[in-house]
Amino acid sequence: MKRISIAIDGLSASGKSTLAQGLAKALNYIYIDTGAMYRAVTLFALREKLIDHESNLNEEGMIMALPRIYLTFRFNPGTGKSEICLNGRNVEKEVRAHEVSRQVSVVSRLPEVREKLVIAQRRIGEAGGVVMDGRDIGTVVLPNAELKFFMTASIKARGERRHAELARRGRAIALDDVLSNLQERDRIDSTREHSPLTQAEDAIVIDNSDLSIEQQFDHMMSCAQQVLNA
Ligand code: C5P
Repeated sequence: MKRISIAIDGLSASGKSTLAQGLAKALNYIYIDTGAMYRAVTLFALREKLIDHESNLNEEGMIMALPRIYLTFRFNPGTGKSEICLNGRNVEKEVRAHEVSRQVSVVSRLPEVREKLVIAQRRIGEAGGVVMDGRDIGTVVLPNAELKFFMTASIKARGERRHAELARRGRAIALDDVLSNLQERDRIDSTREHSPLTQAEDAIVIDNSDLSIEQQFDHMMSCAQQVLNA
């Protein structure tokens, strides 16, 4: 049985990670959440005071600090997810904090940050048997992926989903703050100079505003089966 690479890109909170995890589990592939890697670099920058609350990034300091950032994933059998570790410590919870979400797009537009993470992502992805989600997977990281999806949904649907997800984790963030964070991240991610969020020409677009997770999963699995049987 051949083992393919599946790239899933899309807007913030468009449900990429839920579907990517489901596909990886069903196919017995590894799942790589590249957003968690950018979030971990941002957490490091916040801890080292390389970025302030007004999103002023000390670019030179950030570039100098990059060799001190070591990222790995550790599988958690409880959640069934590979969790992000920063310099050996599991920071899966910390990287989901609202402050990290607020600053991550500013950190991730720095070309040196992208270069470091893309090298690591390609190394993981080149052997196949991987589902990777992010913003530039089908265009830059794994342009030869056999199957590419681009996920999108209305801002209303995405905002409500992310708001509910944060509430489930005990984080009471106002819906308006969640919406403005998503819009601001989409704006920076789509307009940055280096590897902006764009749809790969050969990506299958999924607008899931009105689709259940099961409907999306069934559709994506049947696309994967077609590629595997070809
Ligand atoms: O996927 P998630 O929303 O966790 O990603 C957080 C942020 O990381 C994005 O808003 C984007 O700025 C950055 N990112 C990126 N390239 C990727 C994955 C994420 O620039 N491949």
